[in-house]
Amino acid sequence: MKILAVNAGSSSMKFQLFLMPEERLLVSSNFERIGSNESIYSIIINDRKITKETPINNHKDAVYIFLKELIDNKIILNLDEIKAVGHRIVHGADKYNKPVIINDLVIADIRKYISLAPLHNPAGIIGVEEIISSLPHTINIAVFDTSFHQTMEPESFIYPIPYEWYTNYGVRRYGFHGISHEYITNRLSEIIGSKSFKVIICHLGNGSSITAVKDGKSVETSMGFTPLAGIPMGTRCGDIDSSIIEYMMKEKNVDINNIMTDLNKKSGLIGISGISNDARDIEDAILRGEPRAILTYNIFGRKIASYIASYNCLLDGTDAIVFTGGLGANSQMIRANVIQMISALGVKIDESKNNVRGIEQKISDSTSTIDCYVIPTNEELLIVRETYDLIK
Ligand code: ADP
Repeated sequence: MKILAVNAGSSSMKFQLFLMPEERLLVSSNFERIGSNESIYSIIINDRKITKETPINNHKDAVYIFLKELIDNKIILNLDEIKAVGHRIVHGADKYNKPVIINDLVIADIRKYISLAPLHNPAGIIGVEEIISSLPHTINIAVFDTSFHQTMEPESFIYPIPYEWYTNYGVRRYGFHGISHEYITNRLSEIIGSKSFKVIICHLGNGSSITAVKDGKSVETSMGFTPLAGIPMGTRCGDIDSSIIEYMMKEKNVDINNIMTDLNKKSGLIGISGISNDARDIEDAILRGEPRAILTYNIFGRKIASYIASYNCLLDGTDAIVFTGGLGANSQMIRANVIQMISALGVKIDESKNNVRGIEQKISDSTSTIDCYVIPTNEELLIVRETYDLIK
């Protein structure tokens, strides 16, 4: 049966159509800059990639163009062949600890949680509504980025702030990237042939998070109430002293929105380096010897290393460290930096094995106390697996 994974962002929409249960990827498609006059989409069918620049005014256009491509390319003969659609939804709060069939109540909840995820949940709802109107006979499933972290204990998710902020307003650590962390947990379990292990997963991309997993369950994660917390990211600051916010509002005489935009969009790698939020540009600048690029990677590496060290204590020792995400799976340099910074734990890299991009590989030396791996994530595959399991 054919199952579609949909990942709707505020100005982007990604689709992957799979044949299940074979897990065969039939089509992958990416719509970008929706609503701008530079909108573009690409579609990969049978390893052949076509890119087209065309007006994509809104998400409805993206869904229409994608479904038309499926028919035009004879991937499907009619829309009813798509039996189910799995949607990536960022925030399910503490109500959703597993995927669910989408009905009016679920949509109302996703809408309710917009206050918790104002940048992400609105796009998720648009994706769901456009698919429902284009494929009215198809079952829709919500797969939440927060669900995997619902196994965290209060010691991990309660902040040291007035307790009523949690009970009355829902202020707690939720954690994100759960779909990726769950995929990596399952894949590592297949690789090592056991469900009982401890792993620290470093999902390093434009957004980055680190999660400690024990026996398949998330124990602690670096993102928090929002995806702004944890390690520095492409444009987000990660953990900072919250007093900086009030101080900078007064110094610059600006409102809270202005400061929050700076912390979300102008901080992290781009903030420190002044060069780019793309790690490839930072690495090029490091090779040219630019001091701020070197400082950027030193700070980034140090924060990652300190999370790994603290999670290693929390887990009472770990069996594996996994690097994933666009940056974690591709950057030999950041992996080498981080592993060098945690050498006190007895972790040793095998430089030749670390010389890989985007493929599964064990990268630690045989004498390393902890096995280190590169495992590319596959969030869409997890979404369609969960969707298939639920409707089966
Ligand atoms: P997102 O969080 O948007 O899903 P990705 O996981 O796709 O991001 O990661 C994107 C980031 O991966 C880019 O911003 C870039 O920094 C990094 N990246 C991709 N390829 C490489 C590479 N070959 N070397 C270093 N960094 C890379």
